[in-house]
This record gives sequence, C-alpha cells and structure tokens, in this order.
Amino acid sequence: MKFKKLYIRSRMKNIDITEIKQLLTKPKRIVIVTHKNPDGDAIGSSLGLSHYLKSKDHDVIAITPNDYPDFLKWIPGEDTIIKHESETVTANALIESAELIFTLDFNALNRTGNMEPHLIAAKGIKIMIDHHQQPEDYAKYVYSDISICSTSQMIYHFLEMLDDVNAIESAIATCLYVGIMTDTGSFRFASTTSTTHRVIADLIDKGANNAQIHSNVYDTNTFSRLQLLGRSLNNLRVIPELKTAYITLSQEELNQYNFKKGDTEGVVNYALSLNNINFAAIFIEHKQDKIVKISLRSNGSFNVNEFARKNFNGGGHNNAAGGRSQLSLKDTVEKFISILPNYNKDLNL
Ligand code: 5GP
Ligand code: MN
Repeated sequence: MKFKKLYIRSRMKNIDITEIKQLLTKPKRIVIVTHKNPDGDAIGSSLGLSHYLKSKDHDVIAITPNDYPDFLKWIPGEDTIIKHESETVTANALIESAELIFTLDFNALNRTGNMEPHLIAAKGIKIMIDHHQQPEDYAKYVYSDISICSTSQMIYHFLEMLDDVNAIESAIATCLYVGIMTDTGSFRFASTTSTTHRVIADLIDKGANNAQIHSNVYDTNTFSRLQLLGRSLNNLRVIPELKTAYITLSQEELNQYNFKKGDTEGVVNYALSLNNINFAAIFIEHKQDKIVKISLRSNGSFNVNEFARKNFNGGGHNNAAGGRSQLSLKDTVEKFISILPNYNKDLNL
C-alpha cells in the first residue's frame, strides 16, 4: 500500500525491530505490565498486545499494579488480567520468570507502585512502548513517541513495524480502539491526528464495533456518580485573572456519594470547558493513602507536565498531567493558588 508509511510517525531502530522479530520467532514467557490506576489506554494497549502475542503462541500474562474502573471490565480478555495488589505472589513469580517484559503506557518505573522493585530485579528483556515525556532509560528496547495520542495507537504502529497488521482481528481491534478513544477524549484532543483516524478506520474494518464500545465505556453512570459530578460542579472555583478553574473533592464528599474507582474520571474537563479558561485542576483527597491526587489539564501552550513535575511530584503530557501532594486538601489548594501568579504570563497567552 502506497500510503502505509504515513501511519508511521516514528520507528524503533531497524536493528531493534529485527532483534525483536527474532525474539518473537519462538514461543516465550511474556509479561505485559502497565501503570498504577490503569486507564483505558493502559488496559487497551496491554490486552491488544496480549491477544496479538497469544495468537503467535506465546505464553502471555498482563499484570496491572491494582484494580481499574468497572467501565473497563468488559474488554476482551480483561478477566485474565492479574492484579499485583491482590495476587502479589503469583504476579511476582510471573515477573521473575518472564523472558520478555513489555512495559506499556508509562515513562518511569515508579508509576508501577509496589511492582517497581520486582521489575528492577527481573531478568527478562524489557521493551518499553509509551507516549509520555522524558522516558526513563530502563528498557533494552524503547519505542517512545510523545507526539502519538495513545500507547494503543503505538501498539498498532508496532505491529506495522513487525509487518503484521493483518494479524489484527476483532478482539485486538476492540482493545486498541478503547485505548485510542479514551486517551483522545473520543478523538477530540489536539493529539488526535489524521493518522489516528486512519488507524481507527482500519480498526473498525478489522472488527471494532465503535458504537458498542462508546456505549460500554461512557453509558455507565450510576445515580450516585452523577450526584458526585453535581457536587464537583458545585465545588468549581474560577480565578478569571489567571484563566484558571479548579475543583476539590474531600474524602467526606467521596464517601457521601459512594465513590468508586473511575467515578471522577473526566470531571476535570468540565473546569477546562469554561470559556476563557486555559488551565484546570481537580484535587481529590485520598485519606487512606494520606495524599491529595491532582489532575491537571490545559488548553493551548500552558505546559501542565512541567507544572506537575515542578510543584506536585508528577508529570504526564503538555496538556494532561497528574501529581500528588502530602499536604492537607486545604493546604494543597492554598499552595496551588499561591504559585499560580508565577505563571501569570504563560496562563494569559
Ligand atoms: P490523570 O490526571 O488522568 O490521572 O493523568 C493524566 C496524565 O498524567 C496521564 O498521562 C498520566 O499518566 C499522567 N500522570 C498522572 N499522575 C501522574 C503522576 O503522579 N506522575 C507522573 N509522572 N505522571 C502522572
Ligand atoms: Mn496513555
């Protein structure tokens, strides 16, 4: 196909691809790991790659550090995922005996939480596929491209590099579709390119049922989740002179509305959707972990990755990042408000 090259933004080095192809010629014990609090892209890329490698007769297990939201608990193969938090002994044994370890959708090993020391100690050959900035240098083979919207799209390109896109059947297509859809806010963020749409078109051709997938992921509200959204919107505050809006949720409020993992997913986007707002944040109190989890989003050139790294021990992408604070919820918000004026110029661009 003449336009095939258009799909490929970046490639791994040819020598790396040749070596990986070679490694995959014989059945191997393979573990696929992703980051803590896995999102649609983490699960979609892990399971998409897992289905592909299984179809090539490898022995493959996907391991997540911990649990993930119910709206992802229908994805093909999801029931085979091992959660390190609840199946620690099994997960550690698998990591230890793996010949190959794919690390997907994260740039730093500490994003795997308690799995980190086991991954450091593991002897298996590591292959990183990820789209976050400033990737750590722990893997033998690295496919990193921060211009690509999702790791799931990178898995598609990875299969292109292996000259094996034709191996994509409906389960793989469905998994990759979920990851691309969730990481692009349903194809609307600036990271969505014509290549993304071409990949998506091909995934639909290969069996991804787009309407069903949207419905499975997004039509999953419970009454209490909508009430929690209402509470969040009531807590929305605006600092117009700095084009910033933020939301807070205390542990008490989470409890009141029966909070479950995933319930606050996307809430920060309501703050960003306000007109004349370039920067949005949500602060969520996690009393048990003694932290406040922070999600940051921006429109345009304000770099929330840098902001999160510098001030809140986090990171991510230019327009979507996260971090944490060990201060109280009130003190965290005060810190946030006090440092914002330093960014006055960037926020008012
Ligand atoms: P979210 O706000 O949805 O949790 O995360 C947004 C983006 O920032 C994701 O790409 C996520 O991987 C990244 N991110 C979130 N929290 C952290 C963190 O604590 N550290 C780093 N390095 N990245 C994070
Ligand atoms: Mn991602």
